Amino acid sequence: MYPVKKDEFLGEIYMRILVVEDEMQLADALSEILKRNMYTVDTSYNGTDGYDNALTGVYDCIILDIMLPGMNGIEVLKALRREKISTPVLLLTARSEIEDKINGLDCGADDYLTKPFVTGELLARVRALTRRKGEIVDETRMGYNGLELNKNTCSVMWEGNDVKLSLKEYQIMELLMSNPHQILPKERIIEKIWGYESDVEYNNIEVYISFLRKKLSVISAPVQIKTARGIGYSLE
Ligand code: CA
Repeated sequence: MYPVKKDEFLGEIYMRILVVEDEMQLADALSEILKRNMYTVDTSYNGTDGYDNALTGVYDCIILDIMLPGMNGIEVLKALRREKISTPVLLLTARSEIEDKINGLDCGADDYLTKPFVTGELLARVRALTRRKGEIVDETRMGYNGLELNKNTCSVMWEGNDVKLSLKEYQIMELLMSNPHQILPKERIIEKIWGYESDVEYNNIEVYISFLRKKLSVISAPVQIKTARGIGYSLE
């Protein structure tokens, strides 16, 4: 058993956030607040650096100021969406930038926050944005970086090659794909798939994971299920 349980564990400790804000004091304050709330934070002080960092696709959320030197926030956002980076974006706007705000939402921002804001609201917005993960193609198909999970056929597909999964393998894969780059504690996988009352043990999950790894390698899928020793697994 683990010292920390439930969503706090999954939802906050391993989340990675990018702050793009040129007012250094505000950027550093934001970073401090987020770090204190157990997020991992990177900071960029101009739009161009922010764009380069965001392009890596490793973030769970991007907090993006609109008025920035280099590329402005809207340009960064448009360029990211053009590059198919779907990381949730929280735009920071000044009160006078209503036009930009509307424009930003049109360009694929997920939410906005008007400066000045209170810490509680910022954290609530970030939590809401990081909760919604993975790209849902439709109800029966789920995609992540080109890898596709199909509920109807209970299979996973990469570049036209697919492989059948057992129901439990499918459910574990679905959980991993909905939370990419996050460590899923084994305890959490059991709760989600077998329920609280089950007597499934950790080594049962290990077996399913090893089956899944084999199947992913059969179709040459460009993802890996990594082991976080003593904790759980993550999809990378
Ligand atoms: Ca600014």
